[in-house]
Amino acid sequence: MVETLKIEVERVAKSRLPQVDFSNLPFGKVYTDHMFMADFRNGEWGSPRIVPYGRMLISPATPALHYGQSIFEGLKAYRGTDREALVFRPMANFKRLNLSAERLCMALVPEELFTEGMRALLEIDRAWIPSTAGSALYLRPFLFSADEFIGIRPSLDFTFMIIASPVGAYYSAPVKVKIETHYTRAVAGGTGYAKAGGNYGGAIYPTKLAVDQGYQQLLWTDGKEHAYIEESGTMNVMFVFGDTLVTPALSDSILAGITRDSVLAIARREGMKVEERKVGVKELIDGLKSGLVKEAFGVGTAATIAPIQAIGHEGIDYPLPAASKQNFAAHIYTVLDEIKRGIAPDPFGWVVKM
Ligand SMILES: *Cc1c(COP(=O)(O)O)cnc(C)c1O
Repeated sequence: MVETLKIEVERVAKSRLPQVDFSNLPFGKVYTDHMFMADFRNGEWGSPRIVPYGRMLISPATPALHYGQSIFEGLKAYRGTDREALVFRPMANFKRLNLSAERLCMALVPEELFTEGMRALLEIDRAWIPSTAGSALYLRPFLFSADEFIGIRPSLDFTFMIIASPVGAYYSAPVKVKIETHYTRAVAGGTGYAKAGGNYGGAIYPTKLAVDQGYQQLLWTDGKEHAYIEESGTMNVMFVFGDTLVTPALSDSILAGITRDSVLAIARREGMKVEERKVGVKELIDGLKSGLVKEAFGVGTAATIAPIQAIGHEGIDYPLPAASKQNFAAHIYTVLDEIKRGIAPDPFGWVVKM
């Protein structure tokens, strides 16, 4: 445990903020002036500190580089009306980080380190939180093994960090996705439910093949039969079948998205019919052909709600109604966005002021 968290702060000599064009923010390329870090050494967490964002020294024998002992989280902070940071469901990210840590056999991060580290970073880089519609400060907590040892065993040393990046919209237009029926992201018994680095490294090649074919993302299917829809690369996926909101049930090969959970909670509260169950590829294609499937959209922190314009399967593209007709997706985007920005009441107690 961390004994009375004392965070040391080293400020930048000169802020880079004046050089940032907030009206044109690319995703994930601009980072704030500072970052938070802490080390796990000799069985305990210590030296929590804020330092200038920048390159750092690590050993070439770091297991994170060789064996992928590396996990991460992603969440957003919005600017409140009196300049406070409104952070969306950080405790859910904290819990999921430690779920991932457990699966990867890594040191758990104490709650105080996670929240106080985040609070300190938001305090010092508060001016970086964008206020324009569609933009936010993306927070990226991550944990990696930091031993200097290339044998394979549970690591002893770890580093926990938080970096922050002001971001604009993730996708600017509705996306085209391809149902993947050859490659596999995650299998039963694997690490798909963890936000573990290796899951993403392995997905880049199949995703690139789909991008080369004119799609933006994949819809992953189960690793055994490729007969059931699982999720997208960095988003969970939802469909409106008739008047019912349908999403694949969670399993150990699906990442339990916080946006997914939030959308389901809002839909249920609004009295919409909701089903978490297996979604067959055949059922989906049949529904697209017959018009039963009215909407399809990805849900995740980076994109929030990403309406899908077409779904490709074995060489054929099945179109969806125009994004302007996908009413539930548009509605839920607005509801969530207004809660996150503190414009609408927050009946679930999701927003934390930092
Ligand atoms: C992060 C992620 C999601 C979305 O999770 P959120 O908590 O909603 O951001 C979905 N699928 C995968 C594979 C992810 O990595």
